[in-house]
Amino acid sequence: MAQGPGERPSRGVGVEVLHPMERVPVSFIIDDSTCLVNLNKFAMPQFDAAYGGENKTYHRDWRSWPNEIPDSFVRKFGEWSAAHGVKGKYSIVPYPACVGRLDRELPGWTAKELASSLEVVREVMVPNWDIHPEMVSHTRVIDTRTGHPYSERGPKFMENWEWTTGRSAEEIADYIRYGLTILKNVGLPCEGVTTPGGFGNRALPQLAQATLSAVRDVYHAEIPHYFRHAYDQGKESVAPRVEYASGLEGSDPRCVVSIIGCTGDWTGGWDNTPPGGADKFISEDLQSGRLVEVIGRGEPACLLAHWTGIWWQGEEKGFRIFQEVHRRIHQRFDNLLWMKLGELARYWAARELTRMEVVGTEVRISAPFACPRFTVRVATRDPGRCRVENAGVAGGVTVVELTEVNSARALRPGTWRKDGDSTVACWDLVKGTGVLKM
Ligand SMILES: [Zn+2]
Repeated sequence: MAQGPGERPSRGVGVEVLHPMERVPVSFIIDDSTCLVNLNKFAMPQFDAAYGGENKTYHRDWRSWPNEIPDSFVRKFGEWSAAHGVKGKYSIVPYPACVGRLDRELPGWTAKELASSLEVVREVMVPNWDIHPEMVSHTRVIDTRTGHPYSERGPKFMENWEWTTGRSAEEIADYIRYGLTILKNVGLPCEGVTTPGGFGNRALPQLAQATLSAVRDVYHAEIPHYFRHAYDQGKESVAPRVEYASGLEGSDPRCVVSIIGCTGDWTGGWDNTPPGGADKFISEDLQSGRLVEVIGRGEPACLLAHWTGIWWQGEEKGFRIFQEVHRRIHQRFDNLLWMKLGELARYWAARELTRMEVVGTEVRISAPFACPRFTVRVATRDPGRCRVENAGVAGGVTVVELTEVNSARALRPGTWRKDGDSTVACWDLVKGTGVLKM
């Protein structure tokens, strides 16, 4: 069974929502990161035990892997990314592989080292990256009543596999709240979650509903989102999916957004095996590869990686691959917009849930959510001028006069342009009612 879309507003003919500033969103999804702990070193033997030692995937030489992925690398990666405009999602696994809770004690490191590691995340990563828990431990399921792993072993008691099968949305929400609360205790912001491995695979509607309620409960986030699905090939859409929308005309509109990855992890993987390489994302001649395909068809591109392989035992193999991919896509495309997953989620929620009706040369708007860089195409030829009147939710009309620009690349919030028989307008959409007047 699949997740449900929920309500949709009426949408008049003659108006469509475009990508923000007519650019294709790109985002970088990093899984398996946390503070200090080299998660997959500690996860590997737990995964192996869950399958009774029978699965060769988990027989890698984890004992030789370093315990730590150093904060100096977090800083190096984060500063490079900030300087190059890269945005995305960075997991902070709250109780990484049961080594220790980030809000209590991380055995193997001093309290001071843990505090300083969290500070690096706040300072270097938070400005450009959504922080997600990847459930609680990414390995053993924690009994939320005791805070300890269940005594039972096997795939039914691992976050990655079958624990969610047959569980209710409320049971899963209780579990998600537990992880979120640890992140909240250490002062990290959060609007979404990432599922470890196969978490929620056979409970997709429950997972979506649980995310919606847990993220709202713990963080009061307006538009919770989650990362569960990725399609690394084929024609299936990789655009975000807005799910379980309700109460659109009321004071408490709700929805949850599923962010879809569009690549495999071809950077460095989770288990220190040889990487897929940059060409799988985009070839050296810039003509082929998964990103060329997805961006070429105008869909947002969320690239996938694991922190283990970005660092790659200090060789930084995944990081170098990503740097090359970044260079190539910007050489090939001049219309990309890096966004955090929360920004993508908000844009898609506004895109799908804003009611719009064309009346003469006006577009009447009812927006359940505010949305920066909201961009629409209206079937009106050369209006001469464009303005937005916002009644908002509090009353008192504000007027924003939009300025004409002459190309798509010049589009910014507060501008409009002619495009053949239609008009494209871009502005910061305000929650509540408004009118685009031409
Ligand atoms: Zn993971």
